[in-house]
Amino acid sequence: MIALLTLDCSLSEKAHIIDAIERVGLRAHLDRLEGRERIGAPGAPAELARSLATFSGVADVLPQENAYALVARSGGELPENGVRVGPAVFGGTEIVVSAGPCAVETAAQIEETAQIVAAAGARLLRGGAFKPRTSPYSFQGLGEEGLELLARAGAATGLPVVTEVVSPAEVEVVAEHADMLQVGARNMQNFSLLRAVGERGRPVLLKRGMMSTIEELLLAAEYVVDAGNPDVVLCERGIRSFDRATRNTFDVTAIPLLKRETHLPVIADPSHGCGVRELVPHVARAAIAAGADGLMIEVHPRPDEALSDGPQSLTPQGFRELMASLDPIARSVGRRMG
Ligand code: PEP
Ligand code: MN
Repeated sequence: MIALLTLDCSLSEKAHIIDAIERVGLRAHLDRLEGRERIGAPGAPAELARSLATFSGVADVLPQENAYALVARSGGELPENGVRVGPAVFGGTEIVVSAGPCAVETAAQIEETAQIVAAAGARLLRGGAFKPRTSPYSFQGLGEEGLELLARAGAATGLPVVTEVVSPAEVEVVAEHADMLQVGARNMQNFSLLRAVGERGRPVLLKRGMMSTIEELLLAAEYVVDAGNPDVVLCERGIRSFDRATRNTFDVTAIPLLKRETHLPVIADPSHGCGVRELVPHVARAAIAAGADGLMIEVHPRPDEALSDGPQSLTPQGFRELMASLDPIARSVGRRMG
């Protein structure tokens, strides 16, 4: 439900409307559409909508068409500026590439990688410190020490950093070191984590679950925005199919579909999307051609020695070649590389 306010709606009338929404346990979202102030209350019951229509200060009460009212493309003016992370803007004309190793392993490894990806044109440094591994016996990441190494390597190269947070209890420590909080595929529907990153107020990179529908991804993003954080970037990273020739099946269709449905920026992770180093550049170029606002690419100085995801990590030379190949594709769809 959206309450469209009268042009002369006073502050006390607004407070009264918000109070009525919050009293039934919902959150009120103020925004503007075409110069008119509105208060949205996704999930409002019919009786609340009927009651609000009689409030002074309310010009009209409109139903909301989508289950994901806050992230839907028609959702208001708020988001069109894109999502800013340090100097990078997701959703502008520039394609934003985040790159780095799957996991932060040592100071030397992350520093070397940061220099390589920065020199090749990456705008963010990625690297996992808290790793969600399928096996409990696999390398789990360096934890807080990894966050510190990542932040230091980012600062040394002028790159903001993005890293995964796997539990609500760790949101604070990750947010102290990272410029952008990644919610991974395995946690896309961890609703308490979604709320926690929503309340923390750092830009969020939300990856599609490997068995999640587009609508489920949008509803997961809705949790973050509903918790108070509009700065969400979505990431297509492949879904699980019957074919084991690749690690996942990269759903290129998801990109234009998401761009149609939501104002949120959409990026692609071809590394996890196919899991095969030699295929990554092809999938990356397809994603840009399909309208992606950015890429997340795994790069390791020596992929054969990587503690995780070596087979899908690009070598430094592979990453430079990929970056050099992207500009003509970006330009063909009205974008450019940074
Ligand atoms: C990652 O980006 O390192 C990662 C674990 O990705 P996903 O959550 O998409 O598997
Ligand atoms: Mn990985």
